[in-house]
Amino acid sequence: MVAKNDPTLMFNNSGMAQFKDFFLGNGTPPSRRIADTQKCLRVSGKHNDLEDVGFDTYHHTMFEMLGNWSFGDYFKKEAIAWAWELLTEVYKLPKDRLYVSVFEGNEADGVPFDQEAWDLWKGIVGEERIILGNKKDNFWEMGDTGPCGPCSEIHIDLRSPAEVAEVSGKSLVNNDHPQVVEIWNLVFMQFERKADGSLIPLPSTHVDTGMGFERLCMAIQQKTSNYDTDVFQNTIQVLETLSGKKYGQNDEPFADIAMRVISDHIRAVSFAITDGQLPSNVKAGYVIRRILRRAVRYGYSYLGLQEPFFHKLVPVLAEQFKDVFTELKDQEEFVTRVILEEEKSFLRTLESGLKRLDTIITGLKESGLNTIPGDEVFELSDTFGFPVDLTALIAREKSFQIDEAGFQDALAEQKKRSRQDAAKEATDWIELRESDGVEFLGYDFEETHSHIVKYRKV
Ligand code: ATP
Ligand code: MG
Ligand code: MG
Ligand code: MG
Repeated sequence: MVAKNDPTLMFNNSGMAQFKDFFLGNGTPPSRRIADTQKCLRVSGKHNDLEDVGFDTYHHTMFEMLGNWSFGDYFKKEAIAWAWELLTEVYKLPKDRLYVSVFEGNEADGVPFDQEAWDLWKGIVGEERIILGNKKDNFWEMGDTGPCGPCSEIHIDLRSPAEVAEVSGKSLVNNDHPQVVEIWNLVFMQFERKADGSLIPLPSTHVDTGMGFERLCMAIQQKTSNYDTDVFQNTIQVLETLSGKKYGQNDEPFADIAMRVISDHIRAVSFAITDGQLPSNVKAGYVIRRILRRAVRYGYSYLGLQEPFFHKLVPVLAEQFKDVFTELKDQEEFVTRVILEEEKSFLRTLESGLKRLDTIITGLKESGLNTIPGDEVFELSDTFGFPVDLTALIAREKSFQIDEAGFQDALAEQKKRSRQDAAKEATDWIELRESDGVEFLGYDFEETHSHIVKYRKV
């Protein structure tokens, strides 16, 4: 999961990351056909799903991307037929709940409609189950130049029969409905983008597919949330015991969100550590630290977990993964200790933030005021790592409120500063280059729930 030998990428964010060299012709694969699972982490750069994690039920920070690969071997015809066979005949997913997307073409960009995929899918699922997709969703490019090609995605409609009937006729459109979920993406690499923008056919064509394991489990186990599958239920049950709250039966929606966040984040943090990426104050280590703190904070704020608890989930995961990713069982004690230390120190930060907040509130009381100024709220979050919603929560308990608008102003001011410093548009491979003189600072998800990646010149 932690990208090695690749200075442009902190974490592998897709199955193909480790095969990059083969597609670029810089190495020879051990076989022309491969099938695998790749631990991925999508929390930075081009693929950043952190904001959605816990709030929806199918985007994770860490997930397993299952893939099958052809390096100049089989192509579209086989990849499409085999994908369909695997899903419907081996996994027995219902055919009438699956549909597929085909690249519609983009004239301005010189990329043609994928007629070949259309014809192949038409022969398998019929036209009524095919949707046309645009360049954003259905065309893959490695970067500004290099191998590229159209994709076909396979989606599953997990809505109840009643819901489907209600929208009948429109049921095949994935309008970002939370229960209509992309499970598999088939990429057909057949072009090369030249520096002048033109496309030429590749001398040999390749297949790269990616299927989210957790989403596949949801489909196979006939659930409507990844968190309801046995991939996450073990950790959620432990959280229920620790917090005394029942998942899915809380009046407070944030308790459920917190359980999803925590059961997701423990995987990312644990496997990052077994892969050698310890939490720290810089770069990839800081990303891991922030994920860890995000989890601890959710537990603290919404599950009443004010003593270290996060590390207690490690043995649960280690047991669950012992036959698949054995490294966690092997390093169980070490990972537990690292997380415990991190938790302790963050809880101290939280505590010093609390003290600071106390001082502020006492001062305001003496002046007969009951609103915590925006710049104080900002300082608490920026300097003390003290999340704004936590400040608001505590303020409320003391019959205080926070100056939300003032806080937003201070935040906007800081965002403006960091944007001016350096804003980086990232591709699949290039997240940050040290040669660009930028240092990754992390996200401000705690403040606004809308994330930005901040960079600062070093
Ligand atoms: P989505 O549109 O749902 O964000 P994607 O198009 O970004 O997915 P791809 O880059 O095509 O995803 O990755 C291949 C597969 O990996 C997806 O079809 C999906 O099953 C899975 N996947 C992608 N992102 C996540 C994630 N954050 N958590 C879990 N599974 C994911
Ligand atoms: Mg995505
Ligand atoms: Mg998609
Ligand atoms: Mg996709």
